[in-house]
Parts: sequence; C-alpha cells; structure tokens
Amino acid sequence: MAIATINPATGETLKTFDAFSADEIERRLRRAVDAFVVNRRRSFADRAQRMKRAGELLEARKSEYGRVMTLEMGKPVKAAVAEVEKCARVCAYYAENAERFLADEHVQTDAQESFIRYQPLGPVLAVMPWNFPFWQVFRFVAPALMAGNVGLLKHASNVPQSALAIEEVMRDAGYDQGEMQTLLIGAELVSKILQDERVKAATLTGSEPAGASVASTAAKVIKKSVLELGGSDPFVVMPSADLEEAVTIAVKARVVNNGQSCIAAKRFIVHESIAGEFETRFVRAMESLKVGDPLDESTDLGPLAMPQIVEDLDEQVRASVAAGARLLTGGHRLGERGNFYAPTVLADIPESAPAYAQETFGPVASLFRVKDADDAIRLANATLFGLGASVWTRDRKEADRFIDRIESGQVFVNAMVASDPRVPFGGVKHSGFGRELGVHGIREFVNIKTIWIAKM
Ligand code: NAP
Repeated sequence: MAIATINPATGETLKTFDAFSADEIERRLRRAVDAFVVNRRRSFADRAQRMKRAGELLEARKSEYGRVMTLEMGKPVKAAVAEVEKCARVCAYYAENAERFLADEHVQTDAQESFIRYQPLGPVLAVMPWNFPFWQVFRFVAPALMAGNVGLLKHASNVPQSALAIEEVMRDAGYDQGEMQTLLIGAELVSKILQDERVKAATLTGSEPAGASVASTAAKVIKKSVLELGGSDPFVVMPSADLEEAVTIAVKARVVNNGQSCIAAKRFIVHESIAGEFETRFVRAMESLKVGDPLDESTDLGPLAMPQIVEDLDEQVRASVAAGARLLTGGHRLGERGNFYAPTVLADIPESAPAYAQETFGPVASLFRVKDADDAIRLANATLFGLGASVWTRDRKEADRFIDRIESGQVFVNAMVASDPRVPFGGVKHSGFGRELGVHGIREFVNIKTIWIAKM
C-alpha cells in the first residue's frame, strides 16, 4: 500500500512519501535503544513534565492537527479536533497518575521484606490504524513513555502526516532523544522489525488478520503483545428504557467516526414490544443525517476513509439483502466523487447474512427483535467479537443480568460505549487481548518484578 495522503472526500492525492530505507530504519532502531537508556533513568517527575507539555501542545495545535486527520481519513473536523483534545487529556492523566500506578507494592509474606516493582521493557513497536489517527497512538504513547519505555510507531499507510505530527509533538514536548519515533514503512516490514532483538514488545490496533500476524510473530520470538481488534457491538434496548434518548444515542453510536469505530454500535437488539416504534424513529433519524464535506462543521457524516472500505461495506449490504434481509433505507453509494455511503438500516437479518454478526465498518445498522432478556443476551453473544456492549434499561436487576452475561470487554448501561483514560479498554474473543488505559494499561509493557528479601 502506498504511503500517501489521499483526501477521501475528493479522491485527490495530496502528498506521497517514500518508505524509509533499511539504513534509516536501522538508525531509528539504534536511536530507540539509546532513548530507552535516557527515558528509563528519568524520574517520574521529569517524564511527567514532558508529558504534560505534550498535552499542552496538543491543545494549542488542535485545529491544525484536527484538519490533518480530516484530510487524511475523512472524519468530521469537529470530531477530529475533539480527538486531539482527548489526546491532551490522556497525556495529562498519565502525567499525573503514572508514578502512583507504578509505585512499589509491598506484600506481606514470610520474607523480611517483599514487594513488587514495575520496570519498563524497552522499545515497543506500535502498529496503529487510521480510524482514530491520534487517539489510538496517544493511548499507547502516554502510558508507555510514562512507564519509561520508548515507542516505535508504524502507523497506517494512509495517515503519514498524522504519524509525523505525533512524532513532532512529542519531540517539541522535550522527548527529543527519539523516545517516540515514526517509521514510515509498509506492513510487510512489521514482522522483521518485531523479530529484531532490540524491540521488546508490540501492540497492534487493527483488523483480525493483522492482529493474528503480529501476535504469531511475537509468540515465535517470545515477546509480549497486546491486540485491540474489531467489534460487532450490540446495542440492547429493553421496554423500560427512555426510548427517545435510546434512539438519539443509537444513531450517534452507529455513525460515530463515519461508522468506522471498533466500538461503534453495530447490532441493535430491541425488545419486540418497542421494536416497531424504535425502527420508525431510528430510520427517520438516520435519514436526516447531514452527509457531506467533513471540513464543514455542520456535517454529521463524512466519507469512508478508503475506496476499498466502500466496496467491502456495499458488498456486505448486498449479500445481506440477497440472503433475505429487509433494506429500510440506504444501501448505496452517494455522490459522484469521494467515498460516501448512504446511512443504511437493515432488518429481519437471517443468520447467514454478513450483517448478522460481522463487523460493518461504515454507516450500516442491523436491527433485531427479541422476546426477552435471555434472547437479547443470546443474540448479543452470537458473534466472534467481544469488544463493547451498550444496554438500555431502567431496571437495575435486569441491567445486572446483562452486565454478568454479555461476553465483552466493557458494558455501558444507558450510555454509548466510549473509551476513557480512567478505565481499562480492550476486548475478549476475537476482539483481542490485553488492556489499554487506566491502571491496567500502563502495566502491560512493564516487567512485574518480585523482590524477596529474606533477611539483611
Ligand atoms: P488493518 O488493515 O489491520 O491496519 C492496521 C495497521 O496494521 C496498519 O498500520 C496496517 O498497515 C497494519 N497491518 C496490516 N496488515 C498487517 C500485517 N499483516 N502485519 C502487520 N501489520 C499489518 O486495520 P484497519 O483497516 O486500518 O483498521 C480497521 C480495524 O481496526 C477494524 O477492524 C477496527 O474495528 C479495528 N480497530 C480496533 C480498535 C480497538 O481498540 N479494538 C480501535 C480501532 C480500530 P498498512 O496501513 O500499511 O496496511
């Protein structure tokens, strides 16, 4: 895949980049090793001062960086600016809390003294997707660097300017020894770099095939890996829910990031007593979305990031209709140029249809009717994925059943699923393993070292 910025709203190639040469990659690997020596010796206060500065710079440059993202992958510019703000928050969060999260933990044993110490591992390779070009990276970078590690970023090939901007902001914040370097390389080099002795671990956010490839290489060379993969999140609505709010948030949860979010709600599982009303309101709300130029602040839905995504999505919709699904609205491309797709709603979806349980990466919603909570839980779990789930009910006991029985990394009740620096984020089943964010995220890439002092 070419390393280039191609505006998804117009199809115009804005900038192309040469992939790094073998010599340049080698230089950066050496630099990462040297930077690790520096960063691991820094005090938490020193690291925090730099990380806090990174947050301030992000805040100051949010319009500029937001525009870069919109031009590279098409998200509405308002959301892009909000994404940079969120990155600033994660920097501030780990600047403030890392020392506490990684402080020695004393444990009562037979020894005179015993405790756990958390120590950094070294250079970590981060393979990242284009859908949240800044956020995906910062939720790795902030905890990793605060723990004393250093990062090597292999970003998606369609967001090179975002990748370079991230390197720039960390350098400007005082991480100027190469603590966070971008590698402009294609996916084919990931395995080779991960096998290099100097790279100590890997994290990948992206698709299942890419995750499987990185995890198997990591396993082969006995290195730690964290995977954040896809999702087909259920959005369950029960009779006691506030229907109006549920519909409003359902639409938002489906079309967030032009529908290209791992935790976007994809399957809407509604109790049969309210399903008709939900369907009518949901379709109306999807049809009233403003689709268009992502640089226009009033746009709700921009283009999909790449032509291939439109192809794949359209194929999923067609195959679902061919299998017997009912098309309530949409189901076609929009406009003469750019990667636009109409907000689409499918209902009565048979098990054999792609929209039943696969991930649909775009503005396509699958509606289901269920007769009770057990039926809803069965359907919610009828997918290989297990990332997030949103449940709408005002019955606390009923909510507890969903919380207990839905197979996912997070369950949100009466809210859409979202990531937040303070709580762990990740999935089960084919959605991956390991966690980012919160205290758990910063402890993924550390040596959890047991110290046992029998006597002195
Ligand atoms: P992708 O094709 O897997 O790409 C992600 C990254 O992996 C890119 O940097 C890509 O590089 C690289 N890559 C691709 N194939 C690889 C391979 N065989 N070995 C090593 N690296 C490889 O995924 P995407 O289409 O960009 O992203 C969409 C997917 O990411 C969706 O499934 C979405 O749900 C998931 N996602 C998950 C989360 C989460 O937190 N769980 C968050 C966001 C997105 P190139 O660009 O050079 O190919």
